[in-house]
Amino acid sequence: MNLSNYSYQELAAKDKAYVWHPFTQMRDYCASDPIIIERAEGLKLIDVNGRSYYDGVSSIWLNVHGHQVAEIDQAIRDQLSKVAHSTLLGLGNVPSILLAEKLVELTPSSLRKVFYSDSGSEAVEIGLKIAYQYWRLKGENKRKYFVNMVNAYHGDTIGSTSVGGMDLFHGIYRDLLFETYQIPYPNPYRFDGSTAECSNYCRSKLVELLEDKHDEIAGLIIEPLVQGAAGLIMMPDGFLTDVAGLCQKYGILLLADEIATGFGRTGRMFACDHEDTTPDIMMIGKGLTGGYLPVAATLTSDTVYEAFLGEYEEQKTFFHGHSYTGNQLGCAAALANIELFQESNIVARVTESSRAISPLIMALSELEQVGDVRMKGLMIGVELVQDKSSKTPYPWEAKTGIRVCDRARELGMIIRPLGNVVVFMPPLTSAKSDLEAMVKILKQAIIDVTR
Ligand SMILES: *Cc1c(COP(=O)(O)O)cnc(C)c1O
Repeated sequence: MNLSNYSYQELAAKDKAYVWHPFTQMRDYCASDPIIIERAEGLKLIDVNGRSYYDGVSSIWLNVHGHQVAEIDQAIRDQLSKVAHSTLLGLGNVPSILLAEKLVELTPSSLRKVFYSDSGSEAVEIGLKIAYQYWRLKGENKRKYFVNMVNAYHGDTIGSTSVGGMDLFHGIYRDLLFETYQIPYPNPYRFDGSTAECSNYCRSKLVELLEDKHDEIAGLIIEPLVQGAAGLIMMPDGFLTDVAGLCQKYGILLLADEIATGFGRTGRMFACDHEDTTPDIMMIGKGLTGGYLPVAATLTSDTVYEAFLGEYEEQKTFFHGHSYTGNQLGCAAALANIELFQESNIVARVTESSRAISPLIMALSELEQVGDVRMKGLMIGVELVQDKSSKTPYPWEAKTGIRVCDRARELGMIIRPLGNVVVFMPPLTSAKSDLEAMVKILKQAIIDVTR
């Protein structure tokens, strides 16, 4: 089948006729002239009409080195000449073994085993099931609850949605979801008081809960340092350390969801590294393959893993797995990605780039309709408000964030908002000049829509 035989009009008609897009109101989509991507080069996505756009959200927070990266392309081709996929159920394969070793080396020292899956949501699902089963295997059957954070996002499957805290995405499924204990996530911009008071307040809520309920809690799940889908909310320094300390003190498992923050995004390899946090379970995905292929993983400590060992008849096995678990092409891409991280010093470059564009990003807060600008590494959120002094949000029907992102497309950059927060997450290796060009578009789009 020659994919180049179709005109834009034909493709757009077929797209509207057959494809149901994720997180997209299809009535609006079908009324629009959708952009249809055909290829990409470096930081630019190129549509079937030949127009190019900066990939300003790294194709939803995944992309690391830009597109068409020679080393990753080659690694996939090399693997393809051997085998594309064989099952990991009771059977090994070369790239999944070597990748697991690398992941254990790269992640916090507490993490020693790797369980593969295909998406971040599955990695979370697996983390929750492992934590739950762990306590059953230890005979602590009362521990059946998870602690999660207000406005958390951990994925879209029913289990990962259950530990989510965003009413817009999760509210309608409430009856399907398991119950959790929810605690506030420190959001200094929306807290009435100082940053320290905000931290203290959230910590005290956690302490209160754990004092009372710790013996029925299996684990606490957290997006370390940056709550992503909530609108790039950044926790105050030290809060993660406090949470980790409390989990340890009260003997509950700490599950770190590093799907968005992992692989250099925050200026360290993992967000946990900023505070030397050592979770019991960690979920990774997104940047793991450099934004190439759907591979995710759940890592656990030896303690957790060893609880699952026993005689076959004891039924301690972790009965979970997906068809494509441990896919060779994906693992080969991830290995090439990690090699590039090391060879090209990607993490240090993120810190450098972040510092270089920080003045430009922070200057956005001078705009009349910008209430807060948040930045950690190359994770950037710009919160738009109707009224700056009262921090009054735009009503969500006003689609202000969406309109800013539509305008950015016209100006040559693909980004996606989270409500009133405009998200800017460029590929990690973006050069300073490209970052400056992207921020210029971002600023112009905000001005054009909110003025
Ligand atoms: C994207 C994301 C997920 C879900 O990953 P998918 O691959 O989209 O299923 C989970 N947690 C966080 C923090 C994320 O950003």
